[in-house]
Amino acid sequence: MNILVSRCLLGFPCRYDGKSTYYGELIEFIERYKNKHNFIGICPEVDGGLPIPRATCEIVNGKVLTINGEDKTKEFIDGANTVVDKATEYFVQVAILKSNSPSCGTGKIYDGNFSNKIINGSGIASKMLSDFGVYVITEEELDKIDYLLSVEE
Ligand code: SF4
Repeated sequence: MNILVSRCLLGFPCRYDGKSTYYGELIEFIERYKNKHNFIGICPEVDGGLPIPRATCEIVNGKVLTINGEDKTKEFIDGANTVVDKATEYFVQVAILKSNSPSCGTGKIYDGNFSNKIINGSGIASKMLSDFGVYVITEEELDKIDYLLSVEE
C-alpha cells in the first residue's frame, strides 16, 4: 500500500519557520511497516511553490492568509493539487498528515486569528485528499490504521 506522509513529520525542515516537526512515534511506526508498505513524503506548501521559511498562514473566511494579510490561497490550492496528483499516480488510499496545519490539518485547524486557538476544520490539502477518497488521519491517530497495515500487503 502507498501511504502519503507530511514531510515535516519525517524530520524534513519544511515548516514555515524552517524547522521540522519530527515525530518519533511515526518514525517507529514506519520502521515497523516499511518492508510491507511504501511511505511517500509530501509537503503541499513547498510542493506548491512556497519558500522555506515563509510567513505563517491560517484559513480566514475561506481564504489562506499570511499573518500580514497576504492572500496565499492560490499557492495552497496549487500545493493541494500536487498532492492529489501524487495520490492518483500512486493509487494512494491512506495519508498521515500533520495536525492543525492550514494545509495538512485534519479535523482540527487554527482558528484564523493567529492566536494558537484550534477549531473544527481541515486544511486545504487534507480536505482535497479526503474529497478525492483518501482516508486521512493525523500523526496522533496511528492506531486507526495499525490493523489495516498489519493485514494488507
Ligand atoms: Fe508539514 Fe504539511 Fe506544513 Fe508541509 S504543509 S510543513 S508537510 S504541515
